[in-house]
Amino acid sequence: VPDVITTLARWRAQLDGVRASGASIGLTMTMGALHAGHTSLFERAATECDVAVATIFVNPLQFNDAADFERYDVDLDADLALAGAAGVSMVLAPSTAEMWPRWPQSTSTVHVPGLADRFEGADRPGHFDGVAAVVAKVLGRTGQCTAYFGEKDFQQLCVVRRMVDDLALDVEVVGCPTVREHDGLALSSRNAALVLSRALRAGADALEGGQPVADAEQVMRSVVSDEPLVALAYASVVDPATLASPSHVAVGMCVRLLIAGVVDGVRLIDNVEAVVGAAR
Ligand code: AMP
Repeated sequence: VPDVITTLARWRAQLDGVRASGASIGLTMTMGALHAGHTSLFERAATECDVAVATIFVNPLQFNDAADFERYDVDLDADLALAGAAGVSMVLAPSTAEMWPRWPQSTSTVHVPGLADRFEGADRPGHFDGVAAVVAKVLGRTGQCTAYFGEKDFQQLCVVRRMVDDLALDVEVVGCPTVREHDGLALSSRNAALVLSRALRAGADALEGGQPVADAEQVMRSVVSDEPLVALAYASVVDPATLASPSHVAVGMCVRLLIAGVVDGVRLIDNVEAVVGAAR
């Protein structure tokens, strides 16, 4: 079972000790309720770095809906067992008061213009400012490390990469592939949401078959419209670096398909990569 650290001061001191011994640090940040998607990140960190560490913290700044924040339930003992089995030796699990002493009064956040304002950011105002703030704070207190993030949250990965670059944080960011159920569902989501991964697959197939972006987006929308329980938020084909709609696509170009919908009051997001094919 990993050592549990509850203060940022102790976390920093322990990690300074690790670095002083010449060991490299691999960090994964989570909100707990761990599953195989998270443990794939832990295992990668443990393989590529000398010491794998993780954080478990439900960050109130990234919830624009208070009820959603309160519903988020973490079983720390179960999470620690999973993390330990995946090679994590130390876990930062701070209280909200330790991480954000001023909360619920307003506290500093980090805004990444452009990337944070679209898709999830447009529908959840302030979400990525809160994500970027907690990531910046934890990275700052962790010090030099490699940090592992899941591609499942692709826009988050883009926001974090840009912030680390803009602020010259001493961190190498690594994006890791999405872990899915056998049927394609991104782990952690609910079953009614299967339609989202089906829609992505259909959209990617359309692009790979040489159909235009607008047609691929239409295919995704029509797949989702077959599932009455899912309210589609967006289904878009984007340039993976800018998240802008590609103005023209050439054969062989790599694009990203982003989708989000609300199922039974719960918002779900997913995405896949596609390589544009020649028209048949
Ligand atoms: P969360 O606890 O949901 O904030 O996720 C913590 C980290 O795990 C983020 O970098 C996520 O992108 C990543 N993650 C969550 N689910 C998956 C999954 N199914 N496959 C890969 N990474 C994931």
